[in-house]
Amino acid sequence: MKFEADLHVHSVASGHAFSTIADNVQAAAKKGLKLIAITDHGPKMPGAPHLYYFYNIRALPKNYLDVEILKGVEANIIDKEGNIDIPEEVANKLDIVLAGFHTYCSPSGTVVENTRAMINAINNPLIDMIVHPGNPEFKVDPTEIVLACKENGMLLEINNSSLGTSRAGSYCNCLAIAEKAAEHGIKVAVGSDAHWAEQVGNFASAVELVSKVGLGENQIINRSVHEIHLYLQARGRGQ
Ligand SMILES: [Zn+2]
Ligand SMILES: [Zn+2]
Repeated sequence: MKFEADLHVHSVASGHAFSTIADNVQAAAKKGLKLIAITDHGPKMPGAPHLYYFYNIRALPKNYLDVEILKGVEANIIDKEGNIDIPEEVANKLDIVLAGFHTYCSPSGTVVENTRAMINAINNPLIDMIVHPGNPEFKVDPTEIVLACKENGMLLEINNSSLGTSRAGSYCNCLAIAEKAAEHGIKVAVGSDAHWAEQVGNFASAVELVSKVGLGENQIINRSVHEIHLYLQARGRGQ
């Protein structure tokens, strides 16, 4: 399976990632990617950059080493209403806004409560993609989440790191979510969630998972930069 883009990449600005944006772009170029989204953590995460970083991220070039750079954020879902830690005026200036539940940042409750909070996030117009929904610390109902994404045209992530070194115990949840995503034909992105440049564009475990559940290649948005542009335009982003 060939990919043109990685929509989930961290730089040193996240506070617990170890490569610069330039390192990440270089790694992406080496792997033949045409686009990466720089998605450092939202300000509520310990060690993450403050809002000025996201205000000024437009200082980055649109392209570097023939790789298009989307200026984004991985925001924290901060309450049961599905709000995030990036105000509207900042979110509206970014190219892409990812959001997910994170330790120390998000309220963890029962499966019913977590599912409700995630559905509220799916309905939050500031958000373009829900990341690592299989996190066992914030377990959700796969069917309800996938159906909410379908209704809202929301992109769901199959997170490669969740199947490796991050968020231990994610596999079964990710499998169940991928199965439902395949069944209902919703769009997904496989994301590296790279915290080190060599991980950019590394989707091996996620590809194994989507292949196992029979998720169609045409459901995976980051196989095509064109598809990404169309999706973000439809979300009202100024691409
Ligand atoms: Zn995350
Ligand atoms: Zn991340």
